[in-house]
Amino acid sequence: MDRRVRVRFAPSPTGPLHIGGVRTALYNYLFAKKHGGDFLIRIEDTDQTRFVQGAEEYIIESLKWVGIPPVEGVGFGDGKHAPYRQSDRKPMYRQYVMQLIENGHAYYAFDTAEELEGMRERLKASNVDAKYDAITRTTMKNSLTLSEDEVQKRLESGDAYVVRFKLPRKEEVKFHDEIRGWVSFNTSQLDDKVLFKSDGMPTYHLANVVDDYLMEISHVIRGEEWLPSAPLHVLLYRAFGWEEQMPKFAHLPLILKPEGNGKLSKRDGDRLGFPVFPLNWVDPNTGEMSSGYREAGYLPEAVVNLLAMLGWNPGSNQEIFTMEELIASFSLERVSKSGAKFDQNKAKWYNQQYVRKLEDSALLPFLQTVLAENGLNTNFDENYCLKVCGLVKEKMSFTKEIWGISSYFFVDPASYDLAVIQKRWNEKIPALLKDIELGLDTLSSHEASAIEEVYNENLNKHGIAGKDFLQLFRVCLTGVAGGPPLFEIAALIGKEAVSRRIAHAIQEFNNI
Ligand code: GLU
Repeated sequence: MDRRVRVRFAPSPTGPLHIGGVRTALYNYLFAKKHGGDFLIRIEDTDQTRFVQGAEEYIIESLKWVGIPPVEGVGFGDGKHAPYRQSDRKPMYRQYVMQLIENGHAYYAFDTAEELEGMRERLKASNVDAKYDAITRTTMKNSLTLSEDEVQKRLESGDAYVVRFKLPRKEEVKFHDEIRGWVSFNTSQLDDKVLFKSDGMPTYHLANVVDDYLMEISHVIRGEEWLPSAPLHVLLYRAFGWEEQMPKFAHLPLILKPEGNGKLSKRDGDRLGFPVFPLNWVDPNTGEMSSGYREAGYLPEAVVNLLAMLGWNPGSNQEIFTMEELIASFSLERVSKSGAKFDQNKAKWYNQQYVRKLEDSALLPFLQTVLAENGLNTNFDENYCLKVCGLVKEKMSFTKEIWGISSYFFVDPASYDLAVIQKRWNEKIPALLKDIELGLDTLSSHEASAIEEVYNENLNKHGIAGKDFLQLFRVCLTGVAGGPPLFEIAALIGKEAVSRRIAHAIQEFNNI
C-alpha cells in the first residue's frame, strides 16, 4: 500500500522545547519534504496538571525561527483535521474509549488512590512488581470484578473512574522500528495503562493513537523515550481494528551529554555554558531564565545543520548542508541507533561556518545595531559598514562578536596589546613610523597595495625586518594583535585615521 507520507510533531506544552525536541521536529520535517508529504504539529495537552503558560507559543516560535514550518496545525493554519490541540478535541475521544470497552479491550476501574496504594504496598511486601495488570486487576474494583449492576450504579451516581486498557497476559508484541529494526516486548513487562478519566479527558496514549489514526499519520518519528509506549500503541491499533492504518515507527536516539553518560540536560548547558533551548525562556513560575540559541548568537541555518548531524550521518564526509541538501540526503536508515554526544565546540564551529557565509548585507544590521548603541550610527555610511562586515566576518563565530572585532574601524584604539608593544618597540620605531606616515601623506590613492608599498620602502630604508614590525604596526593602528589583512584595514580607515593613530602611538610608547 503506497501511502501519502504524513508525519507530525506532537509536543506537550510543559515547558520550553529542548533542542532534542527541535531535532525530532527537524527529522519529521526533512522526512516529509523528502517524500513530498505533509508535516503537521499537534499540541498534546491532555495532562492539564503539567500545562505551562507560554510553552505552546514558545514551541511555535521556535519552529518558525529554525525554519521548519508545519503545513497544518496549531499556529500554522488549519488543515482538514482541525482542531490540532488535544484539549480542543476532547469531545471526540469518548466514542473511541467506549468502542474499546464494548469490544472487551478496556474496562472501568473505580479504585481510589488509597486502594491503589494499598495494592502497591501489598505487592511490594511480597516482592512482586507492583502494577495493575492481568493478575492484580482481578483483586481490584473494576468492571471485570464488579457486577454489571454495581458498575451501572457507580457510573450513574457519578463515582470517579478511569478506563484502563486490558492488556493481554504474557503476549509477545513485536513491531518493526525504521531505525532499530524488529523490537519486541512482552506484555508481562507492561501494565493496564489508564486511557481515559471520568472528567472526560483522555490520557496521552489514547489521544495520541486516536489522533494519529484520524490525522492519517503514516510515520511516527519521535524520541527514544517513547519506545516503551510503542507496544501499547501497537496493541491499541489492533484493538481498534486499525492495524492496516498503523503508522510505521521510528524512535530517534537521545542527544547525550558531552561526556556521553546520559541525556543532555539543562543543567549540562548551565554547567558548561551553552544553550539547550532554541530561544530564551523565562519560567513563568520561578522567573528563572534559560538561554536560547537565538539569543546566544546562533544562526538558524547553523542550528539546523548541527542538529541534523546529531544522530544522522550522510554516509560521506560532507558536514555543511543547506536545508535543500538535507532534504535530498535525509533518510531514516542513516539515523543511528545509539545516542549522539553533544559537542559544544562543534556547535560553535557550525555557527562560524555560517557566519562566514553570510552576505555582508546580512551582517550589516548587527553592526548597525551596535553602532547605534555606541552613538556612532550617523558617522559612517552604509558602504563603509558593508566593507567592514566583509573584512571581519572571517574572524567571527557569532554575530554578536562584531563590535568586539571591528570597533577600531569606528573609534581609535582606547587600549593596546601591551605584550606586543613591549616585545617589539625599540628606539628605531618612532622614526620608521613617522616616515611611513609621511610616505602615506604623499599618496594620491589610498589603496591597500599602495600603502603596503610605502610600508615596505620604509622598512628597507630603516633596515628593520618586516616580520618583527608588522604585528607592532597592527597594534599601533588597531590596538589588537590579530585581525583582517592590515593594509586593507589601513585603506579603509583612511589616511587621517592612520596618521592620527601613528602619532598617538609614538606619543604613548616613546618612552617605553
Ligand atoms: N506528546 C509527546 C511528547 O511530548 C509526543 C510523543 C509522540 O510523538 O508520540 O513528546
